[in-house]
Amino acid sequence: MPLPIAHGLTGAGIVAALHPNPASRRYGVALLAGALLANAADLDFALVWAFHSKAWHRAFTHSLFFAAVVGLLFVAVTGRARLREAVASGLAFMSHGALDWLTTREGGGIELLWPFSSARLMLGMWGLSEVPSRLPPSGVLKALFIELLIFGPPFALILLLRRRRAS
Ligand SMILES: [Zn+2]
Repeated sequence: MPLPIAHGLTGAGIVAALHPNPASRRYGVALLAGALLANAADLDFALVWAFHSKAWHRAFTHSLFFAAVVGLLFVAVTGRARLREAVASGLAFMSHGALDWLTTREGGGIELLWPFSSARLMLGMWGLSEVPSRLPPSGVLKALFIELLIFGPPFALILLLRRRRAS
């Protein structure tokens, strides 16, 4: 269950790789939006709080279907002129569920196939920042640092390659 660093760098990396114009003024804003979108699925904590049930976490907001709906909304709002940016935004959102699915070994899986199945799935290829609520603050900081070490270099490489290609 990655923390916001891993999700944010993944989403920003997807947008960085697919953005049509890295030299534009909007590039930085698009990267920030990608990082935020990649964390947006965890806004389901508001439902956990509102309905007093942990079952809302990692439910429909983490599904491929919901991510596709979000992507289609971006396409509908931005239109064909910015189709590539809309697709990148949808993929940044989708990366959250995919990363949770890949890296979760504890704490239950995610409803990746909602609304077709409510089974909680997890591939658990490797455990990443598992159950941070059980960690002391120093453990959370360590997990954030490890995520930065893992996800920072690929993100920096994508930025470098895109800037080099743009210039
Ligand atoms: Zn999540």
